Amino acid sequence: MSSPGITNEAETPQFRAASDAGTFELKSPATRQPVALVSEATVEDTDAAVAAAKAAFPAWSALSPNDRGAYMMKLAELLLESQEELAHLEANSMGRPVSGYWDAKVAAQKLQYFATAGWDNHGQTSLHTPGFLNMTLKQPFGVVAAIIPWNVPVYFFINKMGPALAAGNTIVIKSSEKAPLTSAKVAALIQKAGFPPGVVNVLSGHGHISGSALSHHMDVRMITFTGSGRTGRLIQQAAAKSNLKNVLFELGGKSPAVIFGDADLDRAAKETANSLQFNSGQVCMANSRVYVHSSISDQFISLFKEKFQAITPGDPTQPHVTHGPQADEIQFNTIKKYIELGKRDGKLALGGDEIAGHAGYFIEPTVFLETPEDAPIMKEEIFGPVVNINVFDSEEEVIRMVNDSEYGLYASVYTRDIERAMRFAKSMEAGSVGINCTSPTGAFDMPFGGFKASGIGREGIHYSMDCYLETKTVLMRI
Ligand code: NAD
Repeated sequence: MSSPGITNEAETPQFRAASDAGTFELKSPATRQPVALVSEATVEDTDAAVAAAKAAFPAWSALSPNDRGAYMMKLAELLLESQEELAHLEANSMGRPVSGYWDAKVAAQKLQYFATAGWDNHGQTSLHTPGFLNMTLKQPFGVVAAIIPWNVPVYFFINKMGPALAAGNTIVIKSSEKAPLTSAKVAALIQKAGFPPGVVNVLSGHGHISGSALSHHMDVRMITFTGSGRTGRLIQQAAAKSNLKNVLFELGGKSPAVIFGDADLDRAAKETANSLQFNSGQVCMANSRVYVHSSISDQFISLFKEKFQAITPGDPTQPHVTHGPQADEIQFNTIKKYIELGKRDGKLALGGDEIAGHAGYFIEPTVFLETPEDAPIMKEEIFGPVVNINVFDSEEEVIRMVNDSEYGLYASVYTRDIERAMRFAKSMEAGSVGINCTSPTGAFDMPFGGFKASGIGREGIHYSMDCYLETKTVLMRI
């Protein structure tokens, strides 16, 4: 199979190979066998995609919100029809089990919202300056670039494209080299939905080539990125070195969950285990640091281990499988490296090895205990089914440990004491706080984003749009 490079500015949107005909091989992480040859977008291809988006911008931004929305409504329909195929493409490229695939449905629901949300982009008027009628106008940036990760690709594709287009921008989206197949399929659906050429341009390839070219591009006025802090820093440097493009960043996490003695322990153990089981722990907000009160620590740890190891590993395309492989060899080796560091610094209480009997990159659900707070597995993102559970005695002590992190994406607390819950909601340094719930619990109409090094800006149906619009002040003497 070969995958598309970009759609361009020609009469009809089209797929094309890389300008130098370059490709890279994609392997199934479940079998380690090749599944696709994918076009590697060059700098020249990236320039062509940006030029196509720039050419399409005047006509697209001049459309009414209704006309822009009609294309998005059609695409939402096509996404829903293609759910099964998208689930299988993801299973084959990054190992996500089809049993837990909700991305296309949620992406379609978001797109349906953004298809009508363009109507809400308006400014304000003011008569407060004597002799003047003043106003603000909300206007698109022009060309927006989006760079997405591999863990929930279709969701991130649409979560960035929807508000960018509804605001009147055109867009160039670069998929992840670890999961390019669903973005290629969505590009085909965009073509089928009849979007005008150049409005959406999809690049496949590696970050240091097309990703870096987009980040440095002088015609890209805003860049929206979901991925690691390491790459976020490179993109921000590129933005600073080029045209100081606006940035919207959703980055990594090291999310804590705090369990008190008065909590519903069964629920707390089930949900904190699920937080690390989903997507084999490859989730930005997974609660990879659990803190349990000394009064119930033995009971909680035993419940947690029982629930965490209750998985069905195997071929992610099979509907009964709940635990897929890690996304690729790099990811697999990184997790194994952290497991060795965990064995050095803490006490292994569950797992700690590859899952035997599988050809792919499978890792056992792994629990460490009593790891010092300054150890690497407590400070750095592992992005796998690995957790550390530490025991605490007082609120002050645990708040200090929770907040002693450069990350601040999601934090949760399990307690029946409402005052304590609210003290934690106020004190925990995180963009989202769960009270008697944990990640991946979220809400459509609530903002999502990170404190500290976990991000810049917020996404969400009422929050994304503003990030894709400039605000202009108009002063009119009357
Ligand atoms: P990554 O940073 O390695 O890659 C993300 C994207 O950036 C890919 O498309 C990659 O090709 C591109 N990229 C790599 N180098 C680049 C460069 N020099 N310039 C421009 N682009 C470049 O991240 P990943 O491994 O794909 O995803 C995992 C990370 O994403 C984790 O840190 C996770 O926490 C984070 N994440 C965050 C959220 C969130 O909402 N906060 C959601 C999902 C994932």
